Amino acid sequence: MKVLNAILDLIFPPKCISCGKSNTDFCLKCFSKCPQAERESAEWIFPLYDYRYPPIKKAMWLLKYKGKRRIADLFAEIMYERIIEELSDLKLMENFCKPILIPIPLAPRRMRERGFNQAELICQKLIKLDNKKNFEFKNNVLLKPKDTEHQALIKDRQKRLKNLVGSFVIKNAQFIKNRNIILIDDISTTGATFSEARKTLKEAGTKKIIAFAIAH
Ligand SMILES: [Zn+2]
Repeated sequence: MKVLNAILDLIFPPKCISCGKSNTDFCLKCFSKCPQAERESAEWIFPLYDYRYPPIKKAMWLLKYKGKRRIADLFAEIMYERIIEELSDLKLMENFCKPILIPIPLAPRRMRERGFNQAELICQKLIKLDNKKNFEFKNNVLLKPKDTEHQALIKDRQKRLKNLVGSFVIKNAQFIKNRNIILIDDISTTGATFSEARKTLKEAGTKKIIAFAIAH
């Protein structure tokens, strides 16, 4: 797949999804114009960008539904800087040390359809960038065994929350007992998914949990 992508890039060089500039998926100039997410989410959730901004929306769509995996790498680089910033504050104030990165899992059916979990791709890039300096990665702890209705299709907040109750389970709880956690996802719309995942992890005995998403 990687070889095929490299060949495709030679034939069809990537273009900035916003302005069309060649040889990049999202040029720096357009990136710097993306509005930051407004802080209307819970204080432990850190979204990077405003999902309503069209280039961000398009980028998320390309990543999720068109298999443009490189988009995950691009955003992971920005996310990495933000995580490191937050970690330096948290280490001082709350002794938030040696956290474990955990991607929001996909249910088996969605994983089969898509072939990859975009949150996991972001984590893999974060781990590469970090080179074991600040955190570890576990993708076999938080699982979503059953398919739930797609959150984005449920408009009512209460129903969204209800749709998710009990949807996550923990495996290998020994890995996360008394550990700090950083949850990772691509989009956090209402924070309902993060909240349910956090509840499940807390019940398994973790310490503090924070969460990062590309868009909100
Ligand atoms: Zn551009």
